[in-house]
Amino acid sequence: MDALRTDPEILETIAGEARRQHETLELIASENFCSPAVLAAMGTVLTNKYAEGYPGRRYYGGCEVVDETERLAIERCKSLFGAEHANVQPHSGAQANMAAYMTLMKPGDTLLGMNLSHGGHLTHGSPVNFSGQLYKVAAYGVGEETGRIDYDQVRDLAQRNRPRVIVAGASAYPRLIDFPAFADIARQVDAALIVDMAHIAGLVAGGVHPSPVPYADIVTSTTHKTLRGPRGGFAVTSERYAKGLDKAVFPGMQGGPLMHVIASKAVAFLEAARPDFSGYVRQVLANAAALADALMDRGFRLVSGGTDNHLILLDLSDRDLSGKDAEAALEHARITTNKNTVPGEKRSPFVTSGVRIGTAALTTRGMDQDDMRQIGTWMADVLEAPHDQDVRRRVSEAVSELTARRPLYEEWRESSPGLAAPQP
Ligand SMILES: *Cc1c(COP(=O)(O)O)cnc(C)c1O
Repeated sequence: MDALRTDPEILETIAGEARRQHETLELIASENFCSPAVLAAMGTVLTNKYAEGYPGRRYYGGCEVVDETERLAIERCKSLFGAEHANVQPHSGAQANMAAYMTLMKPGDTLLGMNLSHGGHLTHGSPVNFSGQLYKVAAYGVGEETGRIDYDQVRDLAQRNRPRVIVAGASAYPRLIDFPAFADIARQVDAALIVDMAHIAGLVAGGVHPSPVPYADIVTSTTHKTLRGPRGGFAVTSERYAKGLDKAVFPGMQGGPLMHVIASKAVAFLEAARPDFSGYVRQVLANAAALADALMDRGFRLVSGGTDNHLILLDLSDRDLSGKDAEAALEHARITTNKNTVPGEKRSPFVTSGVRIGTAALTTRGMDQDDMRQIGTWMADVLEAPHDQDVRRRVSEAVSELTARRPLYEEWRESSPGLAAPQP
């Protein structure tokens, strides 16, 4: 960070962001705090290297060292998830999905994915995304009463639409996903199964969520959510699709791989294989359960009535408060979440009736069930009086006391004097 003194403006935005992360309660379900080692690997000379191709088969000279970097990342990824083949080059989760689709489908084929407004992802067939533009799309969802994936509906839609690919996985689903059920449906209609485990990859690695690897033709993921690595993607598959997947990533979809990020992914895979990572993800689940209970005790409704994983979907559709206003009120009290649609949504996607909450990031900061019960009380206080400045100020001060006891990225926060995070 000393080197960045040549650019005080950018250094200030980095230091300011480090302070914001330190001084607020990060409850965005797709975020986490990566380790100093993961962070360090990204800021290295590996960014200078062009390495189009794969280890031992590159289109550039001088790749003998980065070949070893990528081999380590591949081996660690395969061993962590028990897979025959791994591709660690996708720049993001969206790119991993694009590569998986290119491996298994042609434009015009049919994709059956989860409805975005029921918890699916943009890349699972939304009309504003390439996936909805290149492929014909059918969408399954959750039962409005249960908030859980309706597997009978999935089977019915599969039989009627005869998709080439079924994609399972979600961005806002608080329950375990039944991979054998998806595999069974895919087999019945002769479709391929992709599981996008972006949100739950860390839970799978740490053994607290069933693994999709034995059931899916291709498993795609991000590395930066519960897995706690750098921002990026990867995909694993069996020997059968190994060549096709590699070709789809490069030259099909990307140019040169981000070798500095691949090094960082390797560090994250090693960290996730350690026994303390299982302890971490167990705590993530215990924290989500404690926070869910605290909110329900105060009369808040949760989609599906609770959680099995790291994620909670607060359902405000019975209240005179939108997801958008709830997110804003919490933010004023230094609690960061995001608005989210709920099943049967009646408000627009820019307003919504839900708030998505996750415990992966705060668990990394060492918080436990007692902290979660406290945070649940603060959130309920704010949401019951969303325009009350006194409540916001009181909660914001209490949050500051809590965060001050859990230091985060200290050397970055202090690398530039700048402004503190905005006051409520
Ligand atoms: C986050 C997410 C992605 C996309 O990841 P990016 O890295 O943002 O492209 C894809 N699928 C699911 C289910 C996700 O939750």
